[in-house]
Amino acid sequence: MASTSEVYGDPLVHPQYEEYWGNVNPIGPRGVYDEAKRFLEAITMAYHTFHKVDTRIVRIFNTYGPRMRVEDGRVLPAFFSQAILGQGLTVFGDGSQTRSFCYVDDLVEGIYRLLLSDYDQPVNVGNPDEITILQFAEEILALVNNPDAKVVYKPLPQDDPKIRQPDITKAKEILGWEPKVPRSEGLKRTYEYFKTVVKP
Ligand code: UDP
Repeated sequence: MASTSEVYGDPLVHPQYEEYWGNVNPIGPRGVYDEAKRFLEAITMAYHTFHKVDTRIVRIFNTYGPRMRVEDGRVLPAFFSQAILGQGLTVFGDGSQTRSFCYVDDLVEGIYRLLLSDYDQPVNVGNPDEITILQFAEEILALVNNPDAKVVYKPLPQDDPKIRQPDITKAKEILGWEPKVPRSEGLKRTYEYFKTVVKP
């Protein structure tokens, strides 16, 4: 079951380890997604426990890489297309909120190892290298190096998690997995892709 770091909501525990139950606003704008994933975890465990179904639950943290949809609304496609087009990089709030971005190849390897394991409890798969969204915008600006592009500030969406970083102790111990691609390298590879799909 492809779960998500969103099950931790706007977390009060940092970094987030699997035993943390999270801080989700059920009726906020993210509630439908978050609670749907939490329910899916609940029902997965129920089928596992009651019906003895062989299950795995991976909690996927922010992931990026080539072939993300340009207009999917996530921060990386937004920033790359804005930087290439020489527009404002729309930083929401003051940009002090953090995320920890995992390169897609690392994520796939982590999920694959979990499938091959016999571990039926949830496992975080993500890269613990945490960064503020403002720093992230600056890294993309430096990489794309378009003098017309700059940071612009927009309102912070309601219930936007302030911090997010996976504790990957379990993935390391149980799966022998940890991310290998540093953000500097992953962003270069991803930029090569966005250059081919976003034309100034
Ligand atoms: N974000 C931003 N500008 C954008 C899109 C997103 O500053 O144009 C911020 C957003 O508020 C959040 C972070 O970037 O704090 C990551 O957002 P994304 O939607 O990519 O993932 P998620 O919030 O699900 O982690």
